[in-house]
Amino acid sequence: MTFVNQGDVEKSWERHVVECLRQGNLQMKFQNIKGTFDVLPESAAQTTGPVPPTSEWVAAENRIRKVMVAYNFGEIRTPIIEPTELIARGVGELTDIVSKEMFAFERGDTNYVLRPEITAPVMRACLQHNLAQTSGTQKLFYMGPCFRAERPQKGRYRQFHQFGAEVVGSSGAAADVEVIALMMSIYKELGLSDFRLRINSLGNENSRPAYKSALSDYLAPFRDDLSETSRERLEANPLRILDTKNPAERALLEGAPSLADFLDDDSREHHDEVKQLLADLDIAFVEDPFLVRGLDYYTKTAFELESDRVGAQSALAGGGRYDLLASELGAKTPLPAVGFAAGFERLFLALQEEDIKLVTPRYPDLYLVARGERAHHWVIGHAKSLRERGVSVEIDFQERSVKAQMRDANRLNVRFVAVVGDDELLSGEVVFKNMSTGEEIQLSTDHVSEEFFAAAAY
Ligand code: AMP
Repeated sequence: MTFVNQGDVEKSWERHVVECLRQGNLQMKFQNIKGTFDVLPESAAQTTGPVPPTSEWVAAENRIRKVMVAYNFGEIRTPIIEPTELIARGVGELTDIVSKEMFAFERGDTNYVLRPEITAPVMRACLQHNLAQTSGTQKLFYMGPCFRAERPQKGRYRQFHQFGAEVVGSSGAAADVEVIALMMSIYKELGLSDFRLRINSLGNENSRPAYKSALSDYLAPFRDDLSETSRERLEANPLRILDTKNPAERALLEGAPSLADFLDDDSREHHDEVKQLLADLDIAFVEDPFLVRGLDYYTKTAFELESDRVGAQSALAGGGRYDLLASELGAKTPLPAVGFAAGFERLFLALQEEDIKLVTPRYPDLYLVARGERAHHWVIGHAKSLRERGVSVEIDFQERSVKAQMRDANRLNVRFVAVVGDDELLSGEVVFKNMSTGEEIQLSTDHVSEEFFAAAAY
C-alpha cells in the first residue's frame, strides 16, 4: 500500500510556514479553503451563501436526532482523524476516495487521514470495544464533518457533513429494511417528498467474482471505446463501470450480463425479502441493476436516495450491507452490518428546491435602549436578569444616542423596545412598546423582569 510521500509534504509545509512568517507585511487576505464554507448565524447570513444559516443546521440536526431516537439508534462520535490504513482497507484501495481524495498526512511514524466517511470508523469502534459481542446488535447513528479532496462544485465540497446510521451484528433482511425505513422517515420528517429510492443487490463473496469476470469478458472487446476512467476500472474493479454517466458507455452496458443472473441463492433470497418488506411498509423503490456504490465494502443490498432537483450531485443519501468490512479490518469472526450515509449540504439543496424552511427566524424579544449613564448601568443589570429568565434581550455597549440604538432595534427586528432614561428611573415607570402592533405597556422599574415576563406572555 503506498501513501503520498508525506515526508516531502511536511518539509514543504514547514518551508511555507517559514516563508509566510518571514514576509514583513501581510500581503494576502485570508479566505476559507476552497471547497469549505462558513456557517453563519441568521443575523449575519448572506443570501448568496452555499448553505443556510446555523439555525437551519441545528433544526435539521434536531429533527434527524428525533427520528434516530424513535428508531432507538444511539449516537456515536468518533474522532475526525483516523489511521490512514483503516480507511485504505475499509473503504478500499481502488476507490476514488482512497486513491485520490484522501487528506492524509504523517507525523512521526504514524499515518493520519481526515475521515472521508464514517462507516469504517464506526466499525473500528465496534471492533475495538467489542460492542456487538458484549451488548448484542448495535444500532448506531452519527453526524459530523468528512473530508474528500474532490473537485468542488454545487453539492460537492472538500469538507462536507454527513449523518448516517449503522446496524452492526445482524444479517437479517429486516435490518436492511430498518435502515432504509429510518432514512426515509428522516426525509419525511424534514418535509421532503421529491426523491426516488433505487435498490440493487451486489451479491456476496460467492456471487461477485463470477459476475466480475463475466462483465470484464463482455467489456474487453470494447476496451478502446471506453473512457480512460473506465479503462482503469476494467482492470481494477469492473463493477464500478456500471456507475458510468457517459451515454455511450451506458448504451454499451445495455447488452452486458446482469448481476441479478449471478446471485447465489442466499443473496437472491435476501434481496427478495428486502423487497417484500419494503413493499409491506409501502416504501416505493425502483430496482436499478446498474446501481453500484463508490465504496468497495458493500455486499448484497445497495441503495441510493436520489433527487432530480439538486443538480448533477443528485445522490442525497446512500448505503447498503457490508458483511465483509469487519473481517477486512481484522475481525476473527464475521460481523454482518448494514447502514446509510447522507449529506447535509445536499439535504439543504433539496429543502431549498422544495421551498422548505425548517425554522422561522427568531428575533430578539426586547431592546433596552438606555438614555444616559445611570440608565446604561440599569439596562445592563436588568438585561441580565431578563436573559436569565430566557428572554432574548439586546442592549447597546457604548452609550450611543437613542437614535442609534433605535436604528439597531429596527435592524434587529426586535418585538419590544423600552427607552430608559433618568425620567423613567425617577418615576419608577417605563414604557415597553410592541414594535409590530404599536401597543404600549407600562411596567414598574423595580419589577421589570417579572412584569415583562408576564405581560409579553412567555
Ligand atoms: P458516500 O459516502 O460517497 O456514499 O456519500 C454519502 C452521501 O454523502 C452522499 O449521498 C452525499 O449526500 C454526501 N456526500 C458525499 N461526498 C460529498 C461531497 N464531497 N460533498 C457533499 N456531500 C457529499
